[in-house]
Amino acid sequence: MSSITANLQAVRQRIAAAARAAGRPADSVRLVAVSKTFAAAAVREAAGAGQSDFGENYVTEGVEKIDELRALALTWHYIGPVQSNKTRLIAENFDWVHSVDREKIAARLSQARGADRPELHVCLQVNVSGEASKSGAAPGEVAALARKVAGLPGLKLRGLMAIPEPTSDERIQRGRFAQLRALRDELNREGLGLDTLSMGMSADMEAAIAEGATMVRVGTAIFGERKP
Ligand SMILES: *Cc1c(COP(=O)(O)O)cnc(C)c1O
Repeated sequence: MSSITANLQAVRQRIAAAARAAGRPADSVRLVAVSKTFAAAAVREAAGAGQSDFGENYVTEGVEKIDELRALALTWHYIGPVQSNKTRLIAENFDWVHSVDREKIAARLSQARGADRPELHVCLQVNVSGEASKSGAAPGEVAALARKVAGLPGLKLRGLMAIPEPTSDERIQRGRFAQLRALRDELNREGLGLDTLSMGMSADMEAAIAEGATMVRVGTAIFGERKP
């Protein structure tokens, strides 16, 4: 068995165990395999092992893989920072965008998606750790942004995403993820109907699943260490 196939099995087991511990069904957590920096061949191998959702951080690199692997009919998630000059490429090639954090970007994605395509699934990225350098809307700005994005044609607002500051302290990890879930619940009390919490990566997926993650974005634990 290839290492990617074995790693995928191990990650699926971690997800199932974390879901079980939280009293949730294993299929309530969708695995997005983050293939950034890895070649299309690695994606092809993971797809052969039954993986269908893939995440990319860099637009040009992602679009190259999407083109090369078109025949596999995979689902592609854009999870990196969105620059306004890249919104067209993203809207034309990806199925999901997890990292919308301002209205201008959402409006450009909406315009570029076009009415003839299925809606682009959108999550709003929230800066739950309050780090100055991180992308993501401030928690206090998310409700207003969500109302605007929910009204844009071509986009389907699905939920919230966060990348908390790295820490090995599980209490802190869970606190950040709980913050994102509470924010989602607050928006749903307004009737926004958000069904997605995109949170948890290789090092903290258990904490995220314990706090309600419906999508985990996992790179290293599947494809190995990335070259700097
Ligand atoms: C790279 C990346 C991941 C995957 O991180 P790993 O620690 O390798 O699992 C998840 N989400 C985002 C936004 C990323 O940039």
